[in-house]
Amino acid sequence: MSAPDDRPQFCPWCGTPVDYEHHRHTPRYEVLAEKARAEGVDLPQLPPRVRDLLAGDGFVTSCCGCRTISHVVVHRAH
Ligand SMILES: [Zn+2]
Repeated sequence: MSAPDDRPQFCPWCGTPVDYEHHRHTPRYEVLAEKARAEGVDLPQLPPRVRDLLAGDGFVTSCCGCRTISHVVVHRAH
């Protein structure tokens, strides 16, 4: 183990230790920009720092204990 891994390690529903996989999720600001574009409005791009902060890291897991599929977004302080 080198760098500390900040991915979650337990099922948020039943607490079973589970393996999370990195999952690219669509941040909310992208969804909103997409929607605006569809309506013919071009939203200004957010600064990269802000985008980073809002996006976070997405993880997905399927719990072997309660069989719930969980999406978790981890936000890091930069
Ligand atoms: Zn579970």
